[in-house]
Amino acid sequence: MKIGVYICHCGVNIASNVDVKQVASYAKTLPNVAVSTDYVYMCSEPGQELIKKDIREKALDRVVVASCSPTMHEPTFRTTVQEAGLNPYCFEMANIREQCSWVHEDREKATEKAVGLIKSAVARVSLLEPLEEKEVPVMQTALVIGGGIAGIQASLDIANAGFKVYLVEKEPSIGGRMAQLDKTFPTLDCSSCILTPKMVEVGRNKNIELLTYSEVVDVSGYVGNFKVKVKKKPRYIDVEKCTGCGNCASACRLKGRIPDEFNLGLSKRAVPYILFPQAVPLKYTIDPNHCLYIQKGKCGDRLLCKEACTADAINFDQKEEFLEIEIGTIVVATGIDPFNAALKPEYGYGKYPEVITGLEFERLSSASGPTGGEILVNGKKPKKIVFISCVGSRDKQVGNEYCSRVCCMYTAKHAHLVKEKIPESEVVVCYTDVRAFGKGFEEFYDRVKNEGVIYRRGNVGEVYKKAGQLVVRGEDTLTGEVHEEEADLVVLAVGLIQRNEGVGLAGLLRIPLGHDKFFLEAHPKLRPVDTAMKGVYLAGCAQGPKDIPDSVAQAKGAASSALVLLESGGVKLEPYSAMIDKDRCGGCRICEMVCSYSALKYDSEEKVMTVNEALCEGCGTCSSACPSGAIKMNHFTKEQTLAQIRGLI
Ligand SMILES: Cc1cc2nc3c(=O)[nH]c(=O)nc-3n(C[C@H](O)[C@H](O)[C@H](O)COP(=O)(O)OP(=O)(O)OC[C@H]3O[C@@H](n4cnc5c(N)ncnc54)[C@H](O)[C@@H]3O)c2cc1C
Repeated sequence: MKIGVYICHCGVNIASNVDVKQVASYAKTLPNVAVSTDYVYMCSEPGQELIKKDIREKALDRVVVASCSPTMHEPTFRTTVQEAGLNPYCFEMANIREQCSWVHEDREKATEKAVGLIKSAVARVSLLEPLEEKEVPVMQTALVIGGGIAGIQASLDIANAGFKVYLVEKEPSIGGRMAQLDKTFPTLDCSSCILTPKMVEVGRNKNIELLTYSEVVDVSGYVGNFKVKVKKKPRYIDVEKCTGCGNCASACRLKGRIPDEFNLGLSKRAVPYILFPQAVPLKYTIDPNHCLYIQKGKCGDRLLCKEACTADAINFDQKEEFLEIEIGTIVVATGIDPFNAALKPEYGYGKYPEVITGLEFERLSSASGPTGGEILVNGKKPKKIVFISCVGSRDKQVGNEYCSRVCCMYTAKHAHLVKEKIPESEVVVCYTDVRAFGKGFEEFYDRVKNEGVIYRRGNVGEVYKKAGQLVVRGEDTLTGEVHEEEADLVVLAVGLIQRNEGVGLAGLLRIPLGHDKFFLEAHPKLRPVDTAMKGVYLAGCAQGPKDIPDSVAQAKGAASSALVLLESGGVKLEPYSAMIDKDRCGGCRICEMVCSYSALKYDSEEKVMTVNEALCEGCGTCSSACPSGAIKMNHFTKEQTLAQIRGLI
């Protein structure tokens, strides 16, 4: 065996804290090491050429590169050795940057540790065996979960490239939060005017199968070959027959008595409903929680909705349906919920009707909203309006340390809309900091200040009522003074949080959530749309709060990643998997219980376990749990791991 060891300086990242020359000359003394050298950037083209030349000229059959984390450059060096004719799995990396030079100050000790890490890598590489990657076909279908602007964009991009898309939306219509907005910052376009053409395009696209009022309830399989179960909730309306005329809603006995969720309870609707006039599909749904017939088996003496429906579309016999689909790739675009302002009781939300959230303001201000776009409080135009920023964002007390990225700008937009609709009003924004970082944001913020909106920096301590008048008490941190503002309306700029269903969905998809509870991307800088699960991508606010342009951009990124996979037709799987020694396996099935990837199955004829290599992620949990030592991990055998540990100690 001939091993080549290559030590990287990484400029000064490693060399300033580790004596690379000393490490290289020590490595030469290790068993089977034929070459040991250092170079300023091993990942550069000359660095890679150095390795290739040695493999060819000195007949190396194993290679160790001591540099950064394998997450950064393992694929680079595997390709390098492969290009020189070596099996890519006969390569090992020692991380002497993140795990050594960056975390230690004492050069002598860091050098000693680098030597240990390289000894360990050399011991392991000498036991590595060549492995072959497997290629599996990719189903030519995509699943997009969530039909907000991000899911809409991702679906359109994939479908327009010629692939079948299943778009699953839990609500009766697509549109998401954007459908609830009035105007959009900083350009003040009417939100539904720019959203609805895209919604219509989704409805018309022959490659998109729109599954509204539906939820994903099970996901199994692996990249290219996911098996997904979707639950279609009963609408109690035959969508093929429904014309969207609304006769059922007009006839409903409870018309005008059910809180309208789209308007956040600011208006009332009937039991049969559509979310909003431009809903796609424009089909009614009977709300089962409020329908007297569904709840009590009787609705007065006549079913008025059924009688009013000339299309005979109402069907109370509808049941849940389950659809099983085979999917090549998945885009998660489940978006955000607004922070629950009642968790900040000091602002009086829920106690005083004059305290509302930013999303409620959107509905009040929207022409399709409950007041036809007039900003009214208790039926009157407010004269003084106070906005409070960062409600539920940048707030350790409620567990949300992050900035929600849109609230500063939507508050500026709201302040502008108030000034536009009630020019004589006084508008004060109590802010923590103003973050106007996007294109055109700073200009918009300046414009709003020039319109006479007063910005007051500081913390609001409390919103209370004195003699029936709402008062906002806070500290102006620029003047150091405590101030009290009387207000007719207080608008809380609530932050954005992960949806309730997010945790369950993360479990189904086997993708992690970050500390902010949003879906975690595979790498914060270099893989912002990928997840830990191959073939599953993130789009829009599901990954973290963002505005519409950023949601659309990320959706396009997710769609293009999905398309790369679909277009390739096949995907290579890393050959790390569990292997069963049938002679040792007692068929106890403990491994099956601990496997998170459903990769192990019991063969009842042979009475032993079997591994689906495509499903196996090579995590090794089964191997450690197996009481009879019957499971060996490819590329991480006991011998290889013990050699690695011995090398280190
Ligand atoms: C008050 C307020 C004002 C704003 N104003 C602006 C503005 O002026 N300009 C701007 O650029 N941005 C603004 N934003 C931000 C904007 O709303 C978001 O950028 C945008 O909605 C993100 O789109 P999305 O598709 O990622 O998520 P969402 O709009 O949240 O859509 C997600 C969709 O997924 C569905 N869904 C969720 N879970 C599931 C599930 N498990 N299964 C199936 N479907 C599911 C939801 O029902 C929803 O339809 C504002 C946000 C708020 C709260």
